Amino acid sequence: MKILVLNTGSSSVKYRLFDDTATLAKGLVERIGEPGGDAADHEAAMQRVMAEVDLAGLDAVGHRVVHGGTEFAEATVIDDVLVATVERLVPLAPLHNPAALTGIAVARKLLPAVPQVAVFDTAFHQTIPPEGSTYAIDTALTDRWQIRRYGFHGTSHAYVARKTAELLGLPAATAKVITLHLGNGASACAVDGGRSVATSMGMSPLSGLVMGTRCGDIDPTVIFHLHRVAGLPIEEIERSLTRSAGMQGLTGDNDMRTVEHRWQQGDHAATLAIDLYCRRIKEYVGMYLAVLGGADAITFTAGIGEKSPEVRAHSLAGLTALGITIDDPRNTRNAQIISPDGAAVAVCVVPTDEELEIAGQVATVLSR
Ligand code: AMP
Repeated sequence: MKILVLNTGSSSVKYRLFDDTATLAKGLVERIGEPGGDAADHEAAMQRVMAEVDLAGLDAVGHRVVHGGTEFAEATVIDDVLVATVERLVPLAPLHNPAALTGIAVARKLLPAVPQVAVFDTAFHQTIPPEGSTYAIDTALTDRWQIRRYGFHGTSHAYVARKTAELLGLPAATAKVITLHLGNGASACAVDGGRSVATSMGMSPLSGLVMGTRCGDIDPTVIFHLHRVAGLPIEEIERSLTRSAGMQGLTGDNDMRTVEHRWQQGDHAATLAIDLYCRRIKEYVGMYLAVLGGADAITFTAGIGEKSPEVRAHSLAGLTALGITIDDPRNTRNAQIISPDGAAVAVCVVPTDEELEIAGQVATVLSR
């Protein structure tokens, strides 16, 4: 099946063309609408994509859509009703869903005969049971304002958990895997038999693990205090917690390579930041071991998870009593399995591939 996967942002379109699992072409149209940018608007960007790649015989377009609310638990063929629903969900993802809607509108206009499918970051987490997705606040508020844990990075967690089961020869229907997606954004997920049962991001991608510029879990009182006592406007607090927090806030650097370099030189701020970053991962691993009743595997993925032996070793240090051990030589060379042979819990490194997962989900939906 020939499938074009589109990831449309507010000022960029990332694309990849697949023939089944083989990549035929990929590229990025950037700085849309900016002076000197690649394209004047999203329609011009899409036209550029269509000029750059051979779309003859295209079977489908797959669109990455960040927020599907509780309405979408799987990839879904796009029609007017879906578009209206995604529009209704804009308040839950004000930066991301409008861009996806633009990408969908332009692709439907320019490729009217080609089926289009939406693949949602949130969909995989719709299997989290209510006690894992509900916040313990007044239900009158949560019901009226759609407040709950949605979770994100779903295509990555789904892909990586499935690949881990394949790698270890575990039955997909029963494998218990803790996936740790550690990139610029970061989240943990507990996957039981291919279904998400817990994840660290919540109503937004701000909660859970420490990230490049996002704070992860904090007491909500921090926000009241910054507003009432420090006098910061709410928009400034939001900007600080999403753009100037995490590794950026702790060290002034958001790139883990730089922070690790400073840590190796004995820099105090970098040492605290890495300790905090890794301890938060360890806390989530402990929580998810409990939620799952033990795990077959813990898998690291995304930029930091795939490439930082230090973060992996530091995050899982001291867990031998729980059957979790890392083999240093395997870890240092970024092997696929970095635990010793025969370990009770396998520790793995599996590169994520969200576009490939999107293409696979599109093919599954259309072959039904
Ligand atoms: P992603 O969002 O998956 O592209 O991941 C981006 C993050 O991966 C950034 O924080 C990078 O600093 C980090 N990263 C990339 N390569 C390495 C590396 N070799 N060691 C540590 N972190 C890395």
